[in-house]
Amino acid sequence: MRFRRLKLTGFKSFVEPADLRIEPGLTGIVGPNGCGKSNLLEALRWVMGEGSPKSLRGGGMEDVIFAGTAQRPARDFAEVSLLVEDEAEESEVTRRIERGAGSAYRIDGRDVRQKDVSLLFADAATGAHSPALVSQGRIGALISARPAERRQMLEEAAGIAGLHVRRKDAEQK
Ligand code: ATP
Ligand code: MG
Repeated sequence: MRFRRLKLTGFKSFVEPADLRIEPGLTGIVGPNGCGKSNLLEALRWVMGEGSPKSLRGGGMEDVIFAGTAQRPARDFAEVSLLVEDEAEESEVTRRIERGAGSAYRIDGRDVRQKDVSLLFADAATGAHSPALVSQGRIGALISARPAERRQMLEEAAGIAGLHVRRKDAEQK
């Protein structure tokens, strides 16, 4: 599965609609402090079904909605869409949250459950908790990890962690 495009509206500091193309290969996000780099990574996790406000640096789920600044009023919804391509088939996953109304998910415009979205991203190498999404702090954890732990982190990121389990399972039979 490949991520092709990320669209955001009213998500954290991305108050105006933003449409970002995701090129093949490794993607890095650079920019000055506070410009929204971490917010972008959080938008990716959020649209994939992240259920913990804490891992999005918020107290409650509605904290992802643009909260307003001295110049701009707060918004009453946030929406993030992720265009993915899997075996030449494209689909668009959208999550939207409205104040007081909770989250709703759509796949290609159809209303779906959060479970359907989680299933779509169930592969270990994707998913909201994927080690392929390297956030601030995780780099330090990777460097200071013991070799066996580091290997496991990298294998998970590469999507091959499950192979060991299957191999062990096969050896025991
Ligand atoms: P650093 O380099 O320091 O890690 P960064 O590029 O990762 O910075 P982010 O943490 O993504 O920056 O963005 C922080 C900015 O997002 C802050 O200015 C913060 O006020 C703003 N922000 C976060 N949540 C909201 C929200 N709900 N509404 C409005 N702005 C928000
Ligand atoms: Mg950051």
